[in-house]
Amino acid sequence: MGELDALGKVDPELAEALKKEIIRQRETLEMIPSENFASIDVIRTLGSPLTNKYSEGYPGKRYYGGNEFIDIVENLAIDRAKRLFGVPHANVQPYSGSPANFAIYAALCKPGDTIMGLNLPDGGHLTHGWKTSVTGQFFNSVPYHVKPDGYIDIDEVRTLAGENRPKLIWIGATAYTRELPFEEFAKIADETGAYLIADISHIAGLVAGGAHKSPVPYAHVIMTTTHKTLRGPRGAMIMVTERGMKKDPELAEKIDKTIFPGLQGGPHDNTTAALALALLEASRPEFREYSAQVVRNSKALGDELAKRGFRLVTGGTDNHMLLVDLTKYGHGMGIYAQEALDMAGIVLNKNTIPAEPWTAFYPSGIRLGTPALTTRGMKENEMREIANYIADVVEQINGYKMLADKDLRNAELARFRNEIKQNATVLGTKAKTLALCSRFPLYPEIVL
Ligand SMILES: *Cc1c(COP(=O)(O)O)cnc(C)c1O
Repeated sequence: MGELDALGKVDPELAEALKKEIIRQRETLEMIPSENFASIDVIRTLGSPLTNKYSEGYPGKRYYGGNEFIDIVENLAIDRAKRLFGVPHANVQPYSGSPANFAIYAALCKPGDTIMGLNLPDGGHLTHGWKTSVTGQFFNSVPYHVKPDGYIDIDEVRTLAGENRPKLIWIGATAYTRELPFEEFAKIADETGAYLIADISHIAGLVAGGAHKSPVPYAHVIMTTTHKTLRGPRGAMIMVTERGMKKDPELAEKIDKTIFPGLQGGPHDNTTAALALALLEASRPEFREYSAQVVRNSKALGDELAKRGFRLVTGGTDNHMLLVDLTKYGHGMGIYAQEALDMAGIVLNKNTIPAEPWTAFYPSGIRLGTPALTTRGMKENEMREIANYIADVVEQINGYKMLADKDLRNAELARFRNEIKQNATVLGTKAKTLALCSRFPLYPEIVL
């Protein structure tokens, strides 16, 4: 009996889409650095009847009856988060990373207050004050940048913080391949009286597994999503450190009150349960080995790409991610590389590079990472093999152009799309990625 047979009987259209997505995940190389594969146990827990329950409030202080077992679940998640990261307080209710970040602002700032975060095209997150995010509209956002070499410009951070006296400073990124300089930021926050908020969404699994420096001794508050390197369900947590409690003894209470009743209603109890399990998994020795392997894989992938003549932003990586500068093919060529690789079964995303010469929508680089492939069991040998697939495919974009005029650009993209789907190298690589995927089965428990 297939996993989706029952669903197929009641809703064949939906079952078909689910089936195709599961097959897509199995048969492609997933290299988007913010993605991962949660364990089958996490996925099954996520699909439990806990989704039916309303539990507004916190364990022992609920607005509805019938929460005795949900309290056990949420307390397990809280205790495991506190133990894993070594913090005195954790809130596991945020629906996802963006609302969690908004809760941190709401707890600590008033509209119009000055905040600082890494500029979006430099690798920062939308919610750290970018202009199209409400966080850039409700607050006076003073972004900092990376230097031309790709590293965060600490001198600029110090100068801007001194001049603007921000209420809070974010340290965290979505496209940054080096260890985050928590210590230097803590000094700057202390000098200027700001709260230091570490957003470790991307690297939480590496921090938990000891493969990246922990922000706990430096930041006042830590936010992380739970579905990236941490390999849990889609969600987020906000943690308060000893340092944060020292700066503001009411910090934990402020955060909790802002999540509920300030911003959210009922927590997603099925997600909380799946998170409790993911945190248990992340505390095991196998997870330490996993996070170390993620970084080794990323370095192996980068070394091989560099050998094939690709320039890596900052020259390499300390974490799970690589940024590849494609300006040798012209400006704005990220989309060409992304689409050609997609045709070859390699999924990653176009991304801006430092001092981006084109636009945020048509950027000049690609971003890729190893968390998902490492979960499938791949190691350095496979990474070197994949680096060569990537190089073979990306070389096929040579000769195409990114154009400023919209009609000409669309015509050029249409020509490219038509040609690339018949390109022999791309088709040959697609067969190789399929063969590689079949050697590393994904969710063998799910029979379709
Ligand atoms: C992914 C991410 C977020 C947002 O998380 P969502 O769950 O997508 O809302 C916030 N900050 C950083 C640094 C991230 O990488």
